[in-house]
Amino acid sequence: MPKCDDTRNADTSGIAEPSVSGPEVYMGATLFPRTTECDGDSGEAYFGSDAPAGDKPMTESEKATMDTMTGAHPEVRGLSREKMVVKNMAECFDFFERAVEEVTDPDSIQDVITSGELASRLESFSISTAYSGIGAPETTLNIIHHWVQEIRGRETSGSGSKATVKAPRMVFQVEYDECCRKELLHYPSLHKDSHPCCCFGDLNGFYRPELQEVVKQLQEQPELALEILSKMVADGEAVTTRGWCYAHGKYCDMTMALLHVAGTSCTAYAACGKQQGIRDATILPFLVWIGHRLVLQEPILLHENSKRFPSWLLQRFLGHLYHIEETVAEAADFGQPARRERKLTRLVHRGKCGVPVPFDNFAARFYRSCEMTFREYYWQHLIPEAQALGFRMR
Ligand SMILES: [Zn+2]
Repeated sequence: MPKCDDTRNADTSGIAEPSVSGPEVYMGATLFPRTTECDGDSGEAYFGSDAPAGDKPMTESEKATMDTMTGAHPEVRGLSREKMVVKNMAECFDFFERAVEEVTDPDSIQDVITSGELASRLESFSISTAYSGIGAPETTLNIIHHWVQEIRGRETSGSGSKATVKAPRMVFQVEYDECCRKELLHYPSLHKDSHPCCCFGDLNGFYRPELQEVVKQLQEQPELALEILSKMVADGEAVTTRGWCYAHGKYCDMTMALLHVAGTSCTAYAACGKQQGIRDATILPFLVWIGHRLVLQEPILLHENSKRFPSWLLQRFLGHLYHIEETVAEAADFGQPARRERKLTRLVHRGKCGVPVPFDNFAARFYRSCEMTFREYYWQHLIPEAQALGFRMR
């Protein structure tokens, strides 16, 4: 998936000279050079210890939020208070364990769910993805599933026990890039149960046969695509949900999952991209993606893109079917040693779901600050032992 990449756009300007030279230094300085015109959409890594996550001045409301998290309001418990600062790689990666603990903590004053309820909901849960890349949302769900089994086991049978919870079902994935598809086809959840996951390719291949010639021409003049195709897409006349499935080696039909996740192409909107916006050829697969949502109408959609993504596009095509809310998530706010602001839009089906809980309190509830640097991703062997303590992964 041709998306903005954190590491390739890493800001190395504040990098501290490592104490020894070696190939890693070469890699850090040359393979990941600083690019210009990046404002955080594409990711900006912290390399120096003098570049903490919180170097932006805080607004009054941010200060109030921090007071809540740091215990100035002692009634708030959970992840924010107990795992406030990330100091090393192990803590960096334990986000999901702490997050599951947070939502199952009976003492939390925020919405909680018992580990038993969470386990039973996961067992009947299903997900599909488009612009799937190498399966980040699916991996996230699998990690959550892992920790639900651990925490449920701990609660019911004591420390060291693991409960057996059936994994959520993966319905389909859609990925243009052949190398990424090869990764997806090795995904452990594929073919595991009686509902094996489908893996589709180029979204443009889902335009109806009678439109294929038009689409070919529009690839040369993509600035006309929205105007020409919008009505047909909105009327459900432009796309089909049947396509070649690389998992099964035959034509398969897309079916509805409970949650659909897609980080649609951001290259047309990101600051370091071409900035052609809706005039870029990426509008063509995006319109197919919209057409699929209009047919499948998954109960919940999660859409991710650059902060510059024009939200009216989702409103225009899907607003009559979905409650739409958006928030900007910043990786540094969750204890990651990198800045990456992304616009997340949650669409909740008006007919299939109840009134949704607010979307924007997620960042406040799961906030963590970060004291480690991005350098530790590359040069762990150069990090002083005391600082690297806890790196050993479980
Ligand atoms: Zn299939």
